[in-house]
Amino acid sequence: MTRYNISVIPGDGIGPEVINAATTVLDACQNHYGLELDYTFHDFSADLYRRTGRKITPADMDEIGTSDAVLFGAMGLPDVRTPEGLELGAQVEMRAHYGLFASLRPVRLYEGVTSPVKADSIDMLVIRETTEGMFAGLNDKHEPSDETASDRMTITRATSEKLFDVAFAQARARRERGTPGHVTLLHKSNALRSNVLLEKVFDEVAARNTDIGSAKYYIDAGSMHMVMDPSRFDVVVSENIFGDIVSEIAAGLVGGLGVAPSADVSLTHGVFQPSHGSAPDIAGQDVANPIAMILSAAMMLTWLGERRDDQRCTIVAEHIQTAVRTTLASGPRPRDLGGSAPTREVVEAIISNLPASD
Ligand code: ATP
Repeated sequence: MTRYNISVIPGDGIGPEVINAATTVLDACQNHYGLELDYTFHDFSADLYRRTGRKITPADMDEIGTSDAVLFGAMGLPDVRTPEGLELGAQVEMRAHYGLFASLRPVRLYEGVTSPVKADSIDMLVIRETTEGMFAGLNDKHEPSDETASDRMTITRATSEKLFDVAFAQARARRERGTPGHVTLLHKSNALRSNVLLEKVFDEVAARNTDIGSAKYYIDAGSMHMVMDPSRFDVVVSENIFGDIVSEIAAGLVGGLGVAPSADVSLTHGVFQPSHGSAPDIAGQDVANPIAMILSAAMMLTWLGERRDDQRCTIVAEHIQTAVRTTLASGPRPRDLGGSAPTREVVEAIISNLPASD
């Protein structure tokens, strides 16, 4: 079996707690299934920046980028700001450095979790572009004043093409597992020039992938449809800021951030982290839901398996998903899902629900 080098960045708040949960589950998989992982831990965090002024540099990212994948907890604390007044994190830097243009956020309603909407099943994949849009202007030279501040929204053909290629490929792969095979673009081309280009490129890519259905909604109408009838969505794709918002709306439909994994990927690099942030309000209390991070680790194994054509890695990822599904159906349940189980009890249950090795 292939041995993988994994860079681990626990970060701030509940980041170290959920990372510890994920590596504990991965270690159990190493014992059960012969998975072979070597971890290298990196101590970057907003807390380190506050204490020492040290933050992640391009040289650090070059070194981290030599590993096979990155497991990332969460970074940022509300009171630790950069000189520009922004929260300090490493996500935006890593997305730019490695060109991680697509954030994949699977949204699935598990048995045992109550949705705030009426739906028999919710199973979609939200894909958010992560290097452009409003975040591309962060390096703009002009300083905001006390009277005026603006952010620039940038969309490029090159990134949009890659993004939509990923969306249609994901829809095709999902269709093999029984989903409808359909891509929906959420945009605002009636009001934003950048989104006119986004829609145009989407139409071109859709025309090259006619085996997969496609649809388009304005972001406002699409958000409403998502809440009123989530079953009409399979793969949902959008630019950076709309994708950020809509992925959290979607997460809210299936139990919230505690069960929302994500993967930021390019064609060569992958950073796997939960959709949630550092949640300082619950840090250190052993109440964080570890499931989003554990499912993100499973996404890492699926991604490694596909890239290395390593079937066993893919199977271990499926075993982790099965164990999570069983745990959610039968308990114990963490606090954000209405239960009272501490983080470690949920982790122990997931490990005990790992299927027997074949
Ligand atoms: P960011 O901007 O960095 O994504 P955020 O400001 O959106 O972060 P989060 O840190 O994601 O905020 O937390 C939002 C809310 O969700 C908080 O009340 C937090 O306690 C809760 N939350 C987030 N993650 C979890 C988790 N894994 N388990 C339980 N509650 C969580």
